[in-house]
Amino acid sequence: MFENLSERLSGVFDRLTKQGALSEDDVKTALREVRVALLEADVSLPVARDFVKKVQEQATGQAVTKSITPGQQVVKIVHDALVDTLTGEGEPGALKIDNPPAPILMVGLQGSGKTTTTAKLAKRLTEKDGKRVLMASLDVNRPAAMEQLEILGRQIGVDTLPIVKGEDPVAIAKRAKTQASLGGYDVYMLDTAGRLHIDAELIQQAAQVRDVANPRETLLVVDGLTGQDAVNVATEFDDKIGVSGVVLTRMDGDGRGGAALSMRAVTGKPIKYVGLGEKMDAIETFEPDRIAGRILGMGDIVSLVEKAQETIEAEQAEKMMKRFQKGRFNLNDMKMQLEQMLKMGGMEGVMGMMPGMGKMAKQVQDSGFDDKILKQQIALIQSMTKMERANPQILQASRKKRIAKGAGMEVSELNKLLKMQRQMGDMMKKMGKGGMLKQAMKGMF
Ligand code: GDP
Repeated sequence: MFENLSERLSGVFDRLTKQGALSEDDVKTALREVRVALLEADVSLPVARDFVKKVQEQATGQAVTKSITPGQQVVKIVHDALVDTLTGEGEPGALKIDNPPAPILMVGLQGSGKTTTTAKLAKRLTEKDGKRVLMASLDVNRPAAMEQLEILGRQIGVDTLPIVKGEDPVAIAKRAKTQASLGGYDVYMLDTAGRLHIDAELIQQAAQVRDVANPRETLLVVDGLTGQDAVNVATEFDDKIGVSGVVLTRMDGDGRGGAALSMRAVTGKPIKYVGLGEKMDAIETFEPDRIAGRILGMGDIVSLVEKAQETIEAEQAEKMMKRFQKGRFNLNDMKMQLEQMLKMGGMEGVMGMMPGMGKMAKQVQDSGFDDKILKQQIALIQSMTKMERANPQILQASRKKRIAKGAGMEVSELNKLLKMQRQMGDMMKKMGKGGMLKQAMKGMF
């Protein structure tokens, strides 16, 4: 899902990070590319234009002076703007289904996945929400469609309204309502007829059914792969019938994810669910956060943030040094050091860089201290609570046992770690007094 857009955008951001500090021109250039990327992903032009304008205003407003993480900053702004655009009101996926039996009208073009989605939602409502659901097909022109729903119903264990030949859609809707009331159902779902294109008859039929059923939700099912067309379909259905939410299907394919963005921006309708495959479980509530993440390509953000952190670490080092000079060195500091060491080519590499540590480096080597141990030590610290890390002196036997167990290690190993932490703390203190620490830290960061 969204691969095209995400690849494109991550390319843009890669370039940003390589440039270091971000000027206003950089923002403009980057956002011009974001706009192209959006258009290529089939986001409609006005939506892309609006989106970029919004981001630009925010980015410029936020004064990109703090040169530490320009890329991260833009990613965050673009991400937030995407979430903003994609977010609908209320809980994602929430359906108004109080006052049983609540009618849900399912509309959409033929082949959009309407019948499949009806069954998927019925299954979800049954299993997740404990609702009793009745499904009815109103597609009188296509007996196969009516049978399809019946078969799906049996497969997922959800009741369907018995098929009566020759009945018209309005009569079926009425019968479904009666049956739902008498049978004590919480929800009844009306799967209306689909056509290949929107035509007057289709709309008229759906409108008649709507008037009879007075649905709590009218969900439009659209094929997410059809991009701009999906948005046009949604606009038309909403104008003519009134839609309360959208389900985007085939979001498992590698189609152009721009549809989601345009859909939301143009129709103003919330996207409630996304279909992610043919199986009956392949449906999820629409999570703007997750979709925005996918549009941006999470992997790239992570690496971006990591790159940005390298610069942040320089600041942290400065702060840490001040603490060390005062003789403060707790397990949080140690964890940071250990992680830094791993990055810097392990224990030996780091010790080699620190003046006055040659002897210790030798000892370390002799004791067989390698990167595996570094990792184990990090795991031990991770197994501690926040308070324990900040105050290693509170680590008594029972805490030690729990921590070691959590990291899958022996208490004796934890004791070694604590001893090392004390030694390092002492050393930092001594070095801090002689100004050596500053030298040493320079080498490390
Ligand atoms: P309808 O004509 O709108 O009722 O469409 P159907 O429910 O019969 O679906 C048409 C085809 O699309 C079927 O083969 C479904 O299995 C498939 N389909 C529906 N939703 C999804 C989806 O989210 N992902 C994928 N990959 N296929 C889907």
